[in-house]
Amino acid sequence: MSQVEAFSAAEVIAAKRDRHSLTDPQIDWVIDAYTRGAVADEQMSALLMAILLNGMESREISRWTDAMINSGERMSWSALTRPTVDKHSTGGVGDKITLPLAPLVAACGAAVPQLSGRGLGHTGGTLDKLESIPGWRASLSNEEMLKVLQNCGAVICAAGAGLAPADKKLYALRDVTATVEAIPLIASSIMSKKIAEGTSALVLDVKTGAGAFMSDPQKAKELAHVMVGLGKRAGVKTIALVTAMDIPLGLTAGNALEVRESVEVLAGGGPADVIELTVLLAREMLEIVGITNVDPADMLKNGKAMDVWRQMISAQGGDPDAKLPTAKENLVITAPSSGTILSMDAMKVGMAAWRLGAGRSRQGEAVQAGAGIQIHAKPGDVVAAGAPLYTLHTDTPAAFTRAQESLTNSVTIGDLPKDGKIDRLPLVVERITD
Ligand code: URA
Repeated sequence: MSQVEAFSAAEVIAAKRDRHSLTDPQIDWVIDAYTRGAVADEQMSALLMAILLNGMESREISRWTDAMINSGERMSWSALTRPTVDKHSTGGVGDKITLPLAPLVAACGAAVPQLSGRGLGHTGGTLDKLESIPGWRASLSNEEMLKVLQNCGAVICAAGAGLAPADKKLYALRDVTATVEAIPLIASSIMSKKIAEGTSALVLDVKTGAGAFMSDPQKAKELAHVMVGLGKRAGVKTIALVTAMDIPLGLTAGNALEVRESVEVLAGGGPADVIELTVLLAREMLEIVGITNVDPADMLKNGKAMDVWRQMISAQGGDPDAKLPTAKENLVITAPSSGTILSMDAMKVGMAAWRLGAGRSRQGEAVQAGAGIQIHAKPGDVVAAGAPLYTLHTDTPAAFTRAQESLTNSVTIGDLPKDGKIDRLPLVVERITD
């Protein structure tokens, strides 16, 4: 016998369309009914668009998040002796920070349960990057996750199907209905997964600038405040850093290319901005769980973080010594003129890497492990006309033309201003604690 429904979808949609607040029972019902298939995609699409246009008050966002958490399981790490702390980035071009960060924080004494996703669009996904390591496996059972966490101190793996299933359905629908960019929907989507994941503490890296979801710093700050509020209300110690994504992070964008760069950082080298952000986030993660007697910068230098990385990769079937895949073809793009690089558009670089095959345009599509971009010079560097600016990598050379189109006007080259300063965002735009 079919269930008698507490509400009709049309009345809930009409309430939000007419700028009313949704009641707690309406929210609980609509998330549950959508997850069970009693609310159709077209009805949820209309509701999502009404939320995007008319917003939600903080009680509604909080209830919506709880309803998404309650749609699935809640993980528990109570068997662990170390405090758990996770980091979530809203995503950016060349943002490989999770890779060196998780083993680094584990080497300093915390446990890092990092349940990650695959990339969609111009920003890469952590799992896609790690899957370029021969043998490495993203899908683990809950028992396997706990074992890797206990043995290595960090686990990076796919969030199982049981974690916030409402979000999985909603996210796929938002992606095709132009309703991703709503702060209540982004905040509840991210935080429902992080709260259900069972971490005791969370550091959010909210990206802003051309290559970020929230290119406007004001909007990024607003998103950060909403997410910090949701975390705290759920008993998770949460802080957020709003950080720069106006230019790409590091010198690579692409799966195996980014793994290589992360391993350089773990080996004590690598680009300065990647090291700086990794150490900064590690300090925040350690401070929030009360570990103050270790400096993560030392753990990068003394090889302890690298030891954890190797254990963590091996524990998931990967070979940390295996040669990483390289793309079949490459093409060097040179600087059109001489001077100082004054700007580099992260979005254009991200789009080019995506077109080369590093990212996917539909869920479930395969990505190329070796595809992507190496960046040879960044803002502040002086280049001569004809010097290499980018190397493009792909297995499908037909992609070069479209990637080159994406990179048109991606850099400006000129004279350094009189004050010697490049106009760009500071690495940390704001630290948000409430
Ligand atoms: N990442 C998520 O998990 N959800 C969003 O809505 C946006 C980014």
